[in-house]
Amino acid sequence: MCGIVGYLGNKQAFDILIKGLHRLEYRGYDSAGVALVDNNGNLNVYKTKGKVNNLEQYCKDKNINGTVGIAHTRWATHGEPNDKNAHPHYSQSKNLAIIHNGIIENYLTLKTFLISKGYEFKSDTDTEVVVQFIEYIMQSQKCDLYSAVTHTLTQLVGAYAIGVVERNNPNLLIAARKASPLIVGVGNNEYFLGSDASPIIEYTNKVIYINDEQVVKIERGKEIEIHDLKNVKLQPVINEISLSLDDIEKGGFEHFMLKEIFEQPKSLSLCMNGRLNKELNEIKLSAITDFGDKFDKCQRIVITACGTSWHAGLIGKYLFENLCRIPVEIEVASEFRYRDPVILPNDILIAISQSGETADTLAAMELAKKQGAFVFGICNVIGSSVARMTDTGVYTHAGPEIGVASTKAFTTQVAVLVMTALAVAKRKNSIKDEEYHSIIGELSHIEEKINKIFQQVDHIKDISKIFTYAKNFIYLGRGYNYPVAMEGALKLKEISYIHAEGYPAAEMKHGPIALIDEEMPTVVIAPDNTNHLYQKVLSNVQEVKARKGRIIAIVCEGDDGVAKNADYTIEIPKTVACLSPLLTVIPLQLLSYYIAVAKGRNVDQPRNLAKSVTVE
Ligand code: GLU
Repeated sequence: MCGIVGYLGNKQAFDILIKGLHRLEYRGYDSAGVALVDNNGNLNVYKTKGKVNNLEQYCKDKNINGTVGIAHTRWATHGEPNDKNAHPHYSQSKNLAIIHNGIIENYLTLKTFLISKGYEFKSDTDTEVVVQFIEYIMQSQKCDLYSAVTHTLTQLVGAYAIGVVERNNPNLLIAARKASPLIVGVGNNEYFLGSDASPIIEYTNKVIYINDEQVVKIERGKEIEIHDLKNVKLQPVINEISLSLDDIEKGGFEHFMLKEIFEQPKSLSLCMNGRLNKELNEIKLSAITDFGDKFDKCQRIVITACGTSWHAGLIGKYLFENLCRIPVEIEVASEFRYRDPVILPNDILIAISQSGETADTLAAMELAKKQGAFVFGICNVIGSSVARMTDTGVYTHAGPEIGVASTKAFTTQVAVLVMTALAVAKRKNSIKDEEYHSIIGELSHIEEKINKIFQQVDHIKDISKIFTYAKNFIYLGRGYNYPVAMEGALKLKEISYIHAEGYPAAEMKHGPIALIDEEMPTVVIAPDNTNHLYQKVLSNVQEVKARKGRIIAIVCEGDDGVAKNADYTIEIPKTVACLSPLLTVIPLQLLSYYIAVAKGRNVDQPRNLAKSVTVE
């Protein structure tokens, strides 16, 4: 949520900041703004409602000089998305400006205090309180900006990644974080701030990951300084990242989402690279090699995640129970963290998050860790908070996912769960060799099977055009494909704004069947006509048909049961049951994408949403 960028160096900051905002726009697009400090004693703040393009237009005739600056694209939490609530925010004297990602929970108490001291507020945001408080501390304690920021942060409850600049100091940029992402790019006599590496990578691949409650002082001509909130000096650790510009550009596709859908064979291949050994027909995960004993003695796995990652987690439940015979509980992180959950000795908590910065998931991990659980993380972004907080884990290596609606993150999370469950099952001897090898064999062919589904893209596009009229959709699946039904429905909701529900197919008759009529499309996922649940799904399909419902069926090649009753069918290659989500979700992603495009929706930046939910 929200993108922050900063620059201090020898170049003019404006173009670097604007380019950075464009790269981060997937994180929030309610408003955009920039603050620049020039050498003539000006601190200019320009901000507008809407996208970064509006900001560029707005700045056309403005003074955009300055070699130090900060910029922001907002995902509003406190106050409407309008000009006055856009970041950066000035302090009362206009000597300071701030950008902020996160939520300050005690902002009202601080605001009331500052009002009593004569401060006036121009916005409804929690953020403005922070910059006013910093100024209050500077004035009342006669200290410099760095000390005032540090002191202010000790008074804040909540989450923040901030950047602050000062009118009379074009040589200074201060930043800090707690529970919201922030990295510093280290160039040649220049430094960059970013919510992630995408605004930085064009200039340098050297980055410092800032940890919680750390304050960064970037001063022209000096080495970067990092302190904790107790003013203890810390040694900056510079990491080299391998992200390339191609990874974060559209590469000829109309939208990031479409590019990312088509990237899935490649991202799955990267995900399995070095882990799935085709010659030896085995899975090797260092996390399981090193910490397998935790799985040997655990009585229970608890999976926690949000959104699409939660759907991947639901598939994880089927996998660990079926293959490893370990009981699994799964819960959305926002509930888990506030429920006072029972954590048993030897419990393993598996936390799943694409960005590795999801606020609720991080809080759930912290809670489980405190209560003694072994925490296993599955995330995409290297060096993210999830990665740093876990005892061990597995990266998905999906590559940057920029489309707000998650696609390749989901399939790689499922692949990681499959590999983890297989590696654990092998250790525990809970899987027969034949099944183990058959799943691995199938996994090694999954890329070509997905590519085969892509050959039907025109067919899926044609089906999509027919259903743009629909106001509601229902998605039905069973077993491993029940979570896929939920994921398909979520994709449609997110980007087309059509209401959709994913249901376990048999549950339909306990309520949702009342919705079925000639208008209501039902997407049925029944990929395996040899599966013991197939006949059951077939009955569900007939029940829909009997009520004149319209059916789009995802079936395996050559299916002649469900397909016969469907109005439209999309065929996918056969595979083993536990891998079917990797195939069935592909046509559902494409269906949502093309319906949304046909309805003229902004697929990559759907309304009200933002990538990487770093606030509660
Ligand atoms: N809470 C701040 C606001 O509403 C920051 C939101 C964000 O992270 O974009 O302005």
